[in-house]
Amino acid sequence: MDRADRHPTPPSRSRGAAPEKPADARAPSSLALASPLAELSGVGPKRAQALAARGLSTVEDMLFHLPARYQDWRERSTISALRPGIAAVVEGTLEKARERPMRGARWRRLVTASLVDDTGASLRLVWFNLPAYMAGRLPQGARVAVLGRVTEAADKHLEMAHPEITAADSGAGEPIRPIYRLPEGLNQRLYAKLVARALDEAAGAVRGAIPAELRAAWGVPTSAEALQYVHRPPADADLERLRSGRSPGHAALAMDELFAFELAMCIERERMARRPGLQLAGPSTLTDSFVGALPFSLTRAQVRAIGEIGADLDRPRQMNRILIGDVGSGKTAVAFWAALRAVESGAQVAIMAPTEILAEQHHRNFSRMCARLGVMSALLTGNVTGRERERLLRALARGDIPLVFGTQALIQEQVRIANLGLAIVDEQHRFGVFDRARLKSLGPKANVLMMTATPIPRTLAMTLLANLDVSILDELPPGRTPVATEVFEERDLADVHRIVQAEIARGRRAYYVLPLIEEDEGAEEEPKSVAAMAARLGERALAGVRIGMLHGRMRPAEKERVMREFRDGALDVLVSTTVVEVGVDVPEATVIAIIAAERYGLAQLHQLRGRVGRGSEPSRCCLVVSADADSAARERLEMLARCGSGAEIAEEDLRMRGPGDLLGARQTGALPLRFVHFIDDVAMIARAREMAETWLKRDPALELPVSADARTALRRMLEFGFSLADVG
Ligand code: ADP
Ligand code: MG
Repeated sequence: MDRADRHPTPPSRSRGAAPEKPADARAPSSLALASPLAELSGVGPKRAQALAARGLSTVEDMLFHLPARYQDWRERSTISALRPGIAAVVEGTLEKARERPMRGARWRRLVTASLVDDTGASLRLVWFNLPAYMAGRLPQGARVAVLGRVTEAADKHLEMAHPEITAADSGAGEPIRPIYRLPEGLNQRLYAKLVARALDEAAGAVRGAIPAELRAAWGVPTSAEALQYVHRPPADADLERLRSGRSPGHAALAMDELFAFELAMCIERERMARRPGLQLAGPSTLTDSFVGALPFSLTRAQVRAIGEIGADLDRPRQMNRILIGDVGSGKTAVAFWAALRAVESGAQVAIMAPTEILAEQHHRNFSRMCARLGVMSALLTGNVTGRERERLLRALARGDIPLVFGTQALIQEQVRIANLGLAIVDEQHRFGVFDRARLKSLGPKANVLMMTATPIPRTLAMTLLANLDVSILDELPPGRTPVATEVFEERDLADVHRIVQAEIARGRRAYYVLPLIEEDEGAEEEPKSVAAMAARLGERALAGVRIGMLHGRMRPAEKERVMREFRDGALDVLVSTTVVEVGVDVPEATVIAIIAAERYGLAQLHQLRGRVGRGSEPSRCCLVVSADADSAARERLEMLARCGSGAEIAEEDLRMRGPGDLLGARQTGALPLRFVHFIDDVAMIARAREMAETWLKRDPALELPVSADARTALRRMLEFGFSLADVG
């Protein structure tokens, strides 16, 4: 395919896929990247089918199917040094091999043998059900090496169950043996041989994205070398690095991919910078009086973000900006400023939020904060139906309503907005790529402002979101007391209830968050469901308190009603699943108890914690950890209790999980990044970016012949069918 791609004229049908040579002139044994695996000897139609079901259809697929783990055959132990529980390789002579049917399961063959090492010590080897290919073929009297885990049998004799076995002299060829994830019944050794052949005959044809001279300058191995390394590691390879995906081979594969990704980012950014956008540069009548009338003064971060957005809107280019700010950092005021800037410039604005209650909250806040400005605004959600909806849609299409708040209802087909100059997406990570794309298609020249509270480390934001302009609110409004966070054991739940009770006695409100909606009645353990917790609180700990329930299985109208009752003080306690997470603002809520907190990611816990501490009162967050949680989970929760800001948590999360894991989690399914988990260092990302920028300076449109492979890789990256602008 590669070759056909670069051929100046499309190959004609009759000449097949390899225009330089008629297909039949190829040596029958030579493998191409696109060769089907069935062409390999040892792979019949049945095996080929099983492999294909695992996504392994071609030689290229095989080359990029990396080992899942590695076996180390390098260090030999003597039998006297073996202890139960360790894994070891022992070399010696195979004696007393005996095969017999197993008692009670006569179709299985129990095989025992004895391995005698040079000191004369012996180790018992046992196979329950010997693999068929070994039946009757244990090399009695031969010198072998075995690898396995040592156990102590009932008679105190040391034994190894199901050891790997290999002729001692042939072991030299593969001191570190790769083990693959393979379909049931496919022999590892046979497969490794197939891979070896693929490496020898076809790996040289693998084209990496990084141009040769750039590779040389930055010392990055070629993809072919990298594949050799991971499939057939050299004898002196660092096993730990191989096992954790941090070997030079793994790193080179990740670098190649990152390079293509950063190329795409840079090119996309350039392209977007040229895209025409509605210039919003009217007299600042509304924005001035908005800022003047605010009951607070803007934080420095808010002023900076407003400056950046204002400058973008001032140009006849499309703004594509993301505003990243911790919960409570005041993104809404910035969004309203941007909206008013568009309105005073004669354009219409749409503000989309992921839930009705949030859209409604924005609409209500706007009406309250901006009543004097006389800007007409409307709310479009699934609740708006019939004649009212028709009237609203007509008004939007005519351009009569300058500002509309809404949910996904905004991006339904019938909606037209005559003069959309700015689209704002709140909690953008809650929307899919296509939702955001559809919002944009409401107005092709509309400027776009996305907002998110997902904590993302600054170091990653700059490279990961390099296609967007980034504004960061890294400062909370003054006067906030941080939410006091504490970890509780499940058995101390009563302490948590007491804290809640005390807050309610002072007229405050509380959240309980649980992972389940319902669970089996009569469970002995502490409740982990909304239903059980609500019932138990009502009966005992919080008897007499007004308790409401909220979860995803309730009808939307029902959910909205409960949330409203809580907001307005008709309920004191809200027992909920994480549906409560999204930016709902109830300043009177001063305590949140999160049950089975170990089940959530740090970012999500931080978002949940952000439900309290929204007023001037000191607030608390109780993280309740289940009895069976492991120590790593506890450590993460302790970390959350120590760190107050999203930025701090993001950096700490980055330190604990590594950038590969973070990127992987963010990118799942969105981009063809296969090796992203091998990035163990933020500096790698920065390096890939610098390489991409260097190359684009040299060849901005990737037109030179030396850029051919880079261009192919870029196209693959972009072929994912959507603009990278939607990645964030
Ligand atoms: P988020 O960034 O999570 O969306 P909001 O915009 O909802 O945060 O703001 C949280 C609260 O802080 C709101 O009640 C808002 O009125 C208030 N607020 C915003 N900016 C300031 C400021 N500069 N000074 C004081 N309070 C502010
Ligand atoms: Mg918000």
